[in-house]
Amino acid sequence: MAKRQFKRRQAVIEALAVIMKRAEPTPFAAEGPARAGVRARLCLAGWPWADADAEAAEITRNALARAGARRPTWAEGQLEYTKENEGPRTREQCKRCAKPLPEGHYTFCGPVCATAAKVDRNRQRDREELRIAEAASRAAWTARQPEQQCPACERAFRPKHPTGSTYCSRACYQDARRLAGRSLRMVCESVRADPGD
Ligand SMILES: [Zn+2]
Ligand SMILES: [Zn+2]
Repeated sequence: MAKRQFKRRQAVIEALAVIMKRAEPTPFAAEGPARAGVRARLCLAGWPWADADAEAAEITRNALARAGARRPTWAEGQLEYTKENEGPRTREQCKRCAKPLPEGHYTFCGPVCATAAKVDRNRQRDREELRIAEAASRAAWTARQPEQQCPACERAFRPKHPTGSTYCSRACYQDARRLAGRSLRMVCESVRADPGD
């Protein structure tokens, strides 16, 4: 692999590992969307689909390892293992509407709350997956951009957004704004101190 391409790949892996560490409930939740996001970006850059998919899979695998992800054992994957089902069923109120649970119901008061909770959960998961795919796609895009110099800290960086970035970080942007504000104030104060005649 060319050196430049290797560096790009490492940059994407680093960025994905950060995203994966934050994924709930485990980094594996980000596996599918991250792979899709990187693949989409490589396809846009002209890679054939199969090559893009293989590269995205490899990048995702490395990022998961970097994030310290460990696949659950078979026993951990079983329903009995999850906290929700640990111990005796002690819930007295519906998990969604908090009304007292009728006889024979252990989590939700009835089909309305059970279905609504499922819809909420799916919607939340879809939003989260979309967010991760977009972040992965942006990371892959950033790795392909030429480096530019931050006017505030003079470090070399790659832009994070297709709309372009002038500064390497929000902190540098804010520093620059503060400096600009201060020099403007100094001009105003010197004008006030010397109003002329
Ligand atoms: Zn309910
Ligand atoms: Zn900077």
